[in-house]
Amino acid sequence: MSKIQLLDKTTIEQIAAGEVVERPFNVVKELVENSIDAGAKNITVEIKDGGLKMIRVTDDGEGIPADDIPRAFLPHATSKIVDINDLLSIRSLGFRGEALSSISAVSEIELITKTKEDLLGSRYIREGDNEESIEKIGAPDGTTMIVKDLFYNVPARKKFLKSLSAEGTMVADLIDHIALSHPEIGFRLISNQKPLLQTSGNGVLKEVIYRIYGKETADNLIDLDFDDEILKGHGYIGNPSLTRSSRNFENFFMNGRFVHCDIFTRAVEEGYREFLMQHKFPFCVINFECDPAMIDVNVHPSKMEIRLHKREESYDLIREAVHDCMSNRDLIRTVPFDDKDTEVIAAQKPPVPEKKSPEPFESNRILQFKHVDVDAEESNIIKAKEVAVVRDLSQMNLFEDRFLSEKAQIKHRVIGQVFKTYWLFEYEDKLFMMDQHAAHEKVKYERLMKQYRNKNVTSQSLNPPIIVDLSSKEMSVINEYMDSFAKLGIEIEDFGTGSVALRSMPQDLYGTDELTFFREIVDDLMSDPLKGDPEVILSKIASMSCKAAVKGNTFMNEEQVGALISELMTLDNPYNCPHGRPTIISMTKNELDKKFSRIVT
Ligand code: ADP
Ligand code: MG
Repeated sequence: MSKIQLLDKTTIEQIAAGEVVERPFNVVKELVENSIDAGAKNITVEIKDGGLKMIRVTDDGEGIPADDIPRAFLPHATSKIVDINDLLSIRSLGFRGEALSSISAVSEIELITKTKEDLLGSRYIREGDNEESIEKIGAPDGTTMIVKDLFYNVPARKKFLKSLSAEGTMVADLIDHIALSHPEIGFRLISNQKPLLQTSGNGVLKEVIYRIYGKETADNLIDLDFDDEILKGHGYIGNPSLTRSSRNFENFFMNGRFVHCDIFTRAVEEGYREFLMQHKFPFCVINFECDPAMIDVNVHPSKMEIRLHKREESYDLIREAVHDCMSNRDLIRTVPFDDKDTEVIAAQKPPVPEKKSPEPFESNRILQFKHVDVDAEESNIIKAKEVAVVRDLSQMNLFEDRFLSEKAQIKHRVIGQVFKTYWLFEYEDKLFMMDQHAAHEKVKYERLMKQYRNKNVTSQSLNPPIIVDLSSKEMSVINEYMDSFAKLGIEIEDFGTGSVALRSMPQDLYGTDELTFFREIVDDLMSDPLKGDPEVILSKIASMSCKAAVKGNTFMNEEQVGALISELMTLDNPYNCPHGRPTIISMTKNELDKKFSRIVT
């Protein structure tokens, strides 16, 4: 027998399936995307045992014509493109024509489908390569795909799976993302008979965010909207109180597709940078749109990665949009008295109304879908009043002058200083609290960065210079950032034999304990080395300098505080210190009243 063998058809299909179907997540993704491509208004996903035992996706889309059914399961069979040129204008989520063939190669599939034109629906069963049966059947318009016993014939795959509950979580995460990318479609997810998510499909993105991340998140969103020829973006970014410890809360969609793209991530984080603490990441949900010819979606079989043609332009657009909408907002954070960890709150999804899972033949299914927007008693869909909570936020601050404005300052009632650190003010119906160090630091920081950008950092020479002894590692760090130090007016000269001379300081920072804070900067740069972007390095050094500079400055009188507030008003972003901590927070009278039980919630 020859050493080289041609693989048989089944083996070829199973290998190909491996690229598309790694785990239940991929099956659900492909099926739901097919439903979206079919124009569904409502999609229900049900899984059992993390999707391994069963995945059922039911939609009310256009259905598959009876004659086309077997063909849909052939490799490279698609109704979405004809040739490669169509990719330039692709609007659908699918186009590779390999999902159904791949899924059916590694599972048992049952399909029930009916188009509007057909009087009867069809039921089609397939196991691996074998068509088991096809029959006519009464069914509502739309498609139901049931995938059973995933990987029953490829035990090797199962070894790479995580626990059933971890696989289920991945599916839940996916549906969250898809729901965010299509607020105009009602989604339901049921796992082991437990309803996990339900969205109404009324097109209101904020409502979907509320359903998935909870009220705290929905209450702290900032609109993001930009419209450029090469790229449009619409969605929300979280205000800094929502920052998270991982990138999991950065959601990006491109032309309705959930995607990972380094440009998006970097641009948003950069635009947000001065509002972030180190190792924290913003919350965002942004739907991007662009001419399909400007992106390549055919990078990976899972289609989660895209390549942008206009990378730099897109990066700049996004960064600026994020930065602008952060800078133009009144970001003073209102804290409830028992301010819980926002991440914990975010993890608690609001309860989903109980509902029996839909069977494909359930007679009232069509009826029920027709009532999506009706706030009727018997409707199981989210009621209007349940979502109303998220509406009033953006209307805040419209009628009163911002705390940080000249008009408002006249009306500030300064209550005084507490703990030598915080200043309390009464204004309108709120109690404002300012962290004097953070505020002072921010003033110095923005001033220094502005001077640097205008290339007029005034420095003050140190006479005599301060000699600092350094280890060779410290030395190499300083050499690496020498340029940035110089640009900020920190002049350092190599003094030989492992020491440097500090010759000048920026004017604003002069007169503090220069040696200590220079050492602190070096320590910090060593423990957390910075890469790349000179602007990032500069702002980091500037923020560290300022932090050190305001340390000695503890006592303040009322007049100085007034001056500090006036200075804050001139800043681009007075609400966060350079490390992302808030400078001012507020508490409403209402909140106090509640605490003293004057009013009942
Ligand atoms: P692709 O989505 O890349 O076209 P698939 O293998 O996922 O390939 O699906 C093959 C074809 O089956 C699709 O092009 C579409 O015509 C049809 N199809 C699959 N799922 C549905 C559905 N839920 N509703 C209507 N048509 C569907
Ligand atoms: Mg598809």
